[in-house]
Amino acid sequence: MKRKKLDSKGNIIVGTTAILIVGLLIICIFVLTSINYIQNSNINSESNDNFKYIIDDYSANLELMGRDSIAEATQKVYNGLPVLNSEDQIKKNLNNILKEKNQEFKEKYNIDLSSEAISVEPTDSPWKVLFKVKLKGKKGNEEFNQIIERNSSIEGLRDPLPIAKLTIVSGVMAYDDEIHYKTALSAYMLLHDLDSPESYIEATAPLNIKKCPYDPYIHHGDHGVLRDCLDSGYFHESADGSCYLCRLEGKGKCPHYGLEVFIQTHTPLNNETLSCSDHVVFADHYNGEKIDPDDWNSLILDDSHRKKYGLVGNESY
Ligand SMILES: [Zn+2]
Ligand SMILES: [Zn+2]
Repeated sequence: MKRKKLDSKGNIIVGTTAILIVGLLIICIFVLTSINYIQNSNINSESNDNFKYIIDDYSANLELMGRDSIAEATQKVYNGLPVLNSEDQIKKNLNNILKEKNQEFKEKYNIDLSSEAISVEPTDSPWKVLFKVKLKGKKGNEEFNQIIERNSSIEGLRDPLPIAKLTIVSGVMAYDDEIHYKTALSAYMLLHDLDSPESYIEATAPLNIKKCPYDPYIHHGDHGVLRDCLDSGYFHESADGSCYLCRLEGKGKCPHYGLEVFIQTHTPLNNETLSCSDHVVFADHYNGEKIDPDDWNSLILDDSHRKKYGLVGNESY
């Protein structure tokens, strides 16, 4: 009995100890796993954060680099050279700019970057162009591989269409913030057998892309608005007008959502001639009439453009 009692006492002690040890082991394993997990997640989030900062900085730079690469293509047009494929030309320009930026980031963050322009595309907004770039980075043992994208604004860039369409030998010139068509448009109209080419001698148009703030456009019929729009040289959105990328290629219209600008005539003539929206002059070729027959500087517009800009009726605009 006594021995049996001792046995059972011993069993209880052994059992309790075993439970305690197993319990301690489980707690140890749990604590160790937790510490390991926390450490790992710290390392991961730390390294992601490092790259995230660099990627964000690079993406922010892409907006300006994209715009610079478009401006280089525009300069090529103004130098009298054709841009046959604007996307390819801009990608080429951008890749050179990216190389310099990668070198700059090497010095700034001690990271090895390589990048390649994937695409340059029109967007839903004719004022923006979408850039996509493949960006790879390596720092120590860690690396990343990511596609970054940004919209770049084309506002403030020169309109390449008049030069790209008519070529520099036509005599079209750019100065004083304006395109001066001289006799280039009349010669073009003569060549295409269009009505009254002489009306477009000495015609002018805005040089730099500026977004018209009078939106909705029907407000151009309000007193003083059209005058200010023309004096400021604003451009307008147009489903029929060509986008900036197609303007670089000399296309007067394109399938993308685009821009239109008024080509202003300065003539006493009142003959029927082309409506002055640039996609009509360069591509669609239909006629319009002066809004004010007595004004040498009056716009020549067709009915649908008059409706779009609220220029119907007898108000003084
Ligand atoms: Zn306007
Ligand atoms: Zn286009």
